[in-house]
Amino acid sequence: MSDTKPHIPSTARVKLDSGALVANWRALDRMSGAAKAGAAVKANAYGLGARDVVRRLVTAGCTDFFVANWQEAQEIEDLTTGKAGVSVLNGVRAADLAFALQSPAKPVLNSLEQVQRWKSTGKPCDVMINSGMNRLGINVEDLEANLFAGMGIDMVMSHLASADEDGPQNEEQLSQFRAALQIVPGKRTSLANSAGIALGSDYHFDVTRPGLSLYGGVQRPALDDIVSQVAFPQAEILQVRSLLPGDRLGYNAQYIADEPHKIGILAMGYADGYLRGFSNSGMFMHDGMLLPVLGRVSMDLIAIDLAAAPYLAEGDWVECEYDLEVASSQSGLSQYELITGLGNRLAREWT
Ligand SMILES: *Cc1c(COP(=O)(O)O)cnc(C)c1O
Repeated sequence: MSDTKPHIPSTARVKLDSGALVANWRALDRMSGAAKAGAAVKANAYGLGARDVVRRLVTAGCTDFFVANWQEAQEIEDLTTGKAGVSVLNGVRAADLAFALQSPAKPVLNSLEQVQRWKSTGKPCDVMINSGMNRLGINVEDLEANLFAGMGIDMVMSHLASADEDGPQNEEQLSQFRAALQIVPGKRTSLANSAGIALGSDYHFDVTRPGLSLYGGVQRPALDDIVSQVAFPQAEILQVRSLLPGDRLGYNAQYIADEPHKIGILAMGYADGYLRGFSNSGMFMHDGMLLPVLGRVSMDLIAIDLAAAPYLAEGDWVECEYDLEVASSQSGLSQYELITGLGNRLAREWT
């Protein structure tokens, strides 16, 4: 390389556990029973890096990927072509046609307009049914078999709105979806997201579409034992200082020391996705010692209590408590927001 500039070492990173990612997919595939698990890799694989995730899951045997738009399909095209199908969940607008027609990815047709737009192309597609979430999808009462005459529909799918809850909506959506399957001629069927997989075999159909749980999210107790954490944010201690009783810390003095103790200032902040909801409630760790976040999270900095590990010094690294269930209750953010929000400034390091 002719690059002579010195390397710039990162001050904060996310360690990503390949083994945990692949084990989560395999466990979700197993829990999907007779169905095969695909993988939702939209939003850059929930922020972890679509190409890194897709490469590993293709090797593990995953053959169906779900992205939101055509840019995301293009980003993984060389990794998936000839090995796995890619479904574009946001569908195909008139403006997408030029790209879509030469792409190996399939649009998920979400409306009657999109069905008409795609019909004459003779190319494969998926179809989304609105079974009651009222986001994207064709209403069951608008379906007629001849709508799809001559079309090569791969997956007929729908999406559960409340699979993480035990209310009546899951069964209502299941029965709406079954009614749609009487009319729409597809090769395969698909309903369940991560939480939906845990609702049992009635919800599995041919293909499941886990996203969150691939990346360590747990929204139903049945997933607790089979899903493990994938993303581990870590930050370097930039400075250590001692507080005396009465010393005020950070913006608006949201922490005031009540006894003398050491604190560490970390190279991470809300610009990295560690949002202000963690102020005075987040947790860092080192060798099993707990190091609570003190005061308000800044844009680029966080203060932690070093009382439990006063030997830590400038240049040492600490790990963020980022088990998604725990971090969600600390911050009030959803597990989805926590994982997709990890900022670009954090180096992604796969192990
Ligand atoms: C995002 C998404 C998924 C994955 O959902 P998780 O709850 O993350 O498992 C599945 N299907 C559709 C249509 C989606 O938009």
